[in-house]
Amino acid sequence: MALKKKAHGELIVLSGPSGVGKSTVIAELLGQRQDIYFSVSFTTRKPRVGEADGVNYHFVDRAEFEGMIERGELLEYAEYVGNYYGTSMKIIQDKLASGIDVLLDIEVQGAAKVRAKCPEAVLIFIIPPSFEELSRRLRGRNTDSEEVIAGRLTKAREEYAQISNYDYLVVNDKVSEAAAEIIAILTAEDCRARNRMHLVEGI
Ligand code: 5GP
Repeated sequence: MALKKKAHGELIVLSGPSGVGKSTVIAELLGQRQDIYFSVSFTTRKPRVGEADGVNYHFVDRAEFEGMIERGELLEYAEYVGNYYGTSMKIIQDKLASGIDVLLDIEVQGAAKVRAKCPEAVLIFIIPPSFEELSRRLRGRNTDSEEVIAGRLTKAREEYAQISNYDYLVVNDKVSEAAAEIIAILTAEDCRARNRMHLVEGI
């Protein structure tokens, strides 16, 4: 018997401190699991060099973003380092309803809101092998001042305090291994009985 399509997609939340290499891990994951839909967030932050509208983010101004909040169009949103970031409700609902897994790359306040609204979401937190390594990676980018780096490290400590609210913890030492662990988590989640009841016949 051929496996039936999933009844409902999985909502996957990935968080982790700035500099942990989340985007690289996500790129590796999406390269291997092309069936996952990556949710492109809305933000009021300005594009960085190399970022494109509609690819990395939908770049909007504060008035547009506040309009989306007022109209209830966002599944979650947060203010992070002076800018708004948020996830469109509609796109995600449509994907999940058609059995497609959706991946969100969001910070800890947004993740807590997703948990409250969608208790079955899978929350994964990514950390570097050590704080020293995080600090090395942030300095290695050569883009930020010492002050900005110190701010990111303080923020990382605050974010670590939320790790117990996550379902899984992945250490990004080697990107390929971190991506492989996430794929293993997603496979296990797919195998949960509650996610497979549509395969059970005759009850
Ligand atoms: P960056 O400015 O470095 O791209 O992102 C800053 C932080 O915002 C990251 O931790 C990222 O995960 C988070 N982020 C990106 N999109 C969203 C979103 O839609 N909602 C929330 N809550 N956080 C987001």
